[in-house]
Amino acid sequence: MDNCIFCKIIDGRIPSVKVYEDEFCTAFKDINPQMPVHIVVASKRHVPSVLGFGAEDKEFLGGIQLAIAKIASQEGLVENGFRVINNCGADAHQSVPHLHYHILAGGDMGERIV
Ligand code: 5GP
Ligand code: ZN
Repeated sequence: MDNCIFCKIIDGRIPSVKVYEDEFCTAFKDINPQMPVHIVVASKRHVPSVLGFGAEDKEFLGGIQLAIAKIASQEGLVENGFRVINNCGADAHQSVPHLHYHILAGGDMGERIV
């Protein structure tokens, strides 16, 4: 997708610090980290949100979920834990309409999600 910032990061037109890549997703450090560790896991396919997938995409979406676990392991987040967030739509302030998950870690985030 020509005008999408995450598509540009995925194909290298915009530089980023990539930490992981497979057939399902590309993961890179967030430019404006909200925690000491803040990784964006972006779908390899340009789909605006999880609402754009169907039953035929179970393997693809499951692949992203497994990638999140691999990234957590690779980045040393297993011992202390991590939080995974997906912003979808206006109330959640999704700013980039390309499916992605935030992995946050590196400190106590409290009992409440927000
Ligand atoms: P959203 O608000 O859509 O859930 O998350 C978008 C995230 O992408 C934000 O946390 C924002 O900091 C990050 N982001 C936006 N533009 C760039 C960029 O050019 N490079 C990187 N690495 N992250 C970006
Ligand atoms: Zn895109």
